[in-house]
Amino acid sequence: MEYTHLFGPVCSRRLGRSLGIDLVPFKTCTFDCIYCECGATTSKTIQREEFFPASEVKEELARFLSGEPDLDFITFSGSGEPTLSLSIGQIIRFLKRDYPQYRIAVLTNGSLLHVPDVRTDLLPADVVLPTLSSAITKTFNRIHRPAGGLEPTRIIEGLSRFRQVFPGEIWLEVFIIPGLNTTPDELEGLRDAIGRIRPDRIQLNTLDRPGTEQWVRPADADELGRIAKILGLPGTESIEPVRYAPGTSIPTGDMGAHILGMLKRRPCTLEDIAAVTGLRITEVSKYLRQFEQAGLLDTKKEGRGVFYIVRDQPVDTSE
Ligand code: SF4
Repeated sequence: MEYTHLFGPVCSRRLGRSLGIDLVPFKTCTFDCIYCECGATTSKTIQREEFFPASEVKEELARFLSGEPDLDFITFSGSGEPTLSLSIGQIIRFLKRDYPQYRIAVLTNGSLLHVPDVRTDLLPADVVLPTLSSAITKTFNRIHRPAGGLEPTRIIEGLSRFRQVFPGEIWLEVFIIPGLNTTPDELEGLRDAIGRIRPDRIQLNTLDRPGTEQWVRPADADELGRIAKILGLPGTESIEPVRYAPGTSIPTGDMGAHILGMLKRRPCTLEDIAAVTGLRITEVSKYLRQFEQAGLLDTKKEGRGVFYIVRDQPVDTSE
């Protein structure tokens, strides 16, 4: 039996070996970011819902974790905004109670942390990784294309309130888009906001895979270094390219479904897939060839290589 709500483990640039939990339907999000690796948002909302029964997700976790896998993190992420799920608090508490040996991370765009219940839900997590890419409304709207009512001032306020009560670590992602949020005014606004949020780490990130909008380009290492210097804040780091760790995978059952599940959530190169699955390049090629012949994949050439993208998402890998 396969998994509907779990994916990976993946080799995450920020979290190492991470088992992903996806609690929302494909591309259900409060934002529609121009750099999103999962494509355009199809359901833009700020309405929290259960979406899937929490018991279903717990059953999958219990089944997967019974194999005692070696993981750096269990991470709430996926192809939308996980705090939209009303089940998130319950599932974090379940993991903390029954599997205390695993560290819990939440990848969030931070847009709902002004809601008291969302802050309470995330309290037992070990690390929360929110995003803040601009403190200036016009730029913020251009980058994130948010659902109505989501203003950067409100989001910054929510993040700083969360900091006051959250005992774990906050690793704040600043997604750098050259020419958009790299001007002196932008960086000054970010520096002030970050001063209020007081994250443990500030992680400068940039495009690593094809984004939703073709014109978005990545920042190079020099540019990221320059921005870190201008921000001048302790705990600032640039996110390194994906680390390869061949031979350390834990396939979750059928390998073809596992690979398609990965590609459904974000485009990957052949090398990315080999790194995460532990398969040889030639073996990964065989799978990709089969998927291409079945008309399931598109490809796109970017600086880091050829990326494979699932066509007609979402793909059902649950069979
Ligand atoms: S990058 Fe994250 S926050 Fe932005 S649209 Fe994609 S899933 Fe939503």
